[in-house]
Amino acid sequence: MKEIKHFINGEYVGSASGKLFDNVNPVNGQVIARIHEAGEAEVDAAVKAARAALKGPWGRMTVAERTEILHRVADGITARFDEFLEAECLDTGKPKSLASHIDIPRGAANFKVFADLVKNVPTEAFEMATPDGSGALNYGVRRPKGVIGVISPWNLPLLLMTWKVGPALACGNTVVVKPSEETPTTTALLGEVMNAAGVPAGVYNVVHGFGGNSAGAFLTAHPDVDAITFTGETGTGETIMRAAAKGVRQVSLELGGKNAGIVFADCDLDKAIEGTLRSAFANCGQVCLGTERVYVERPIFDEFVARLKAGAEALKIGEPNDPSANFGSLVSHKHREKVLSYYQKAKDEGATVVTGGGVPDMPAHLAGGAWVQPTIWTGLPDDSAVVTEEIFGPCCHIRPFDTEAEAIELANSLPYGLASAIWTENASRAHRVAGQIEAGIVWVNSWFLRDLRTAFGGAKQSGIGREGGVHSLEFYTELKNICVKL
Ligand code: NAD
Repeated sequence: MKEIKHFINGEYVGSASGKLFDNVNPVNGQVIARIHEAGEAEVDAAVKAARAALKGPWGRMTVAERTEILHRVADGITARFDEFLEAECLDTGKPKSLASHIDIPRGAANFKVFADLVKNVPTEAFEMATPDGSGALNYGVRRPKGVIGVISPWNLPLLLMTWKVGPALACGNTVVVKPSEETPTTTALLGEVMNAAGVPAGVYNVVHGFGGNSAGAFLTAHPDVDAITFTGETGTGETIMRAAAKGVRQVSLELGGKNAGIVFADCDLDKAIEGTLRSAFANCGQVCLGTERVYVERPIFDEFVARLKAGAEALKIGEPNDPSANFGSLVSHKHREKVLSYYQKAKDEGATVVTGGGVPDMPAHLAGGAWVQPTIWTGLPDDSAVVTEEIFGPCCHIRPFDTEAEAIELANSLPYGLASAIWTENASRAHRVAGQIEAGIVWVNSWFLRDLRTAFGGAKQSGIGREGGVHSLEFYTELKNICVKL
């Protein structure tokens, strides 16, 4: 059986404790590998390697040298595209048709985009007067923050991990990554690419394990980690913030959401249906930016529900290798239990199940998989758990509204504020409503359209800080002012 080991100081190493756990393929429940679980000793070794590498050749490289290496990392991912694709789909159960367009290309792009960006970071300079008349010159320089702890989730494993590692390394930091226990393989494989690209030992380190009382908690508690960047659930974000308080370490938190789509009667309905279908069901609904609440203006409500139902029922459920499949399994059986508990709650609370609501019939060789049906409900009260809590599954609740003000109030009614999608052909309304939505990202007539130079992050309980473009560089560098008396 294949073993997935930690990657520390440029080498793959097992756990001294000999503790391993199963890596399960969610489409059939079979164990595909055994994963080493890091104890405090492995986490400490990884942090020490990262600290040492800061003082080694990595710390002495020019920006040009460093960014050239990061371009080679991106090229290395692309050169081994099929291996990354296979690994990502085995871990997550997502269709290859999806991961080959999103996960793996974006995993490579995250290194190129930030390598190019960091070459052109502007700095500030201020001349000032002094009482003796000679004056002084102030100028800002950006320095790496140090050792960055990166904790990533399972829904877009390579994409979301490199989204943090790319800019962290571009800025000259070193990293210790703790990928999700559900999806460790591409993060592990990246170690080989780093070595081949000439990334010095200790710059990129990986420790595997769980969150609480395991690798995740050991990493966030480690006193020699300078900053922590995290993507995952809001509750975990709170725990990580508490850990980071010790030693006053900075955090970047990309957290959960319960995103609203608002569909006005003046929308282009074809576009609104296509976009809402993707936002509710892409990646089996396991996208933080996905839409689980859809508010539709009453005159088009019935037509919208009927057409979304038809679209959901046309999705082709299948295993990653099925080229016609555009809807995979959930990431794990544990997650399926959570999603199905909400399917049950919806029924208990009297929802109208427009489509789905259960488990699809699958052929015998896939019967052990974590499958669920794409599901649409109507008729639930606004305070239902199904409407207020993040499910992170392929489902949405649709509710009618009558006025623009009501739609805005409904969209803003929850403590989350990650993303929102507005569908209207009225430009004034689009700007007016977008300006009033309490979310870090608002799409108008689109969804998941991302330019990596733009700010990304959540309002309210969906996160702290912004990453993307220069905002990533803000987090991953320390801005120092040097004041020179002339
Ligand atoms: P999670 O919070 O359960 O786990 C995320 C990571 O944190 C995993 O690596 C896990 O092992 C680790 N972890 C868990 N407890 C920890 C602890 N006490 N200390 C340190 N590390 C710990 O989240 P998940 O289930 O993997 O991912 C789904 C969640 O992520 C959803 O809430 C989703 O909305 C959110 N998400 C947000 C964004 C965003 O950009 N805002 C993107 C993707 C996913």
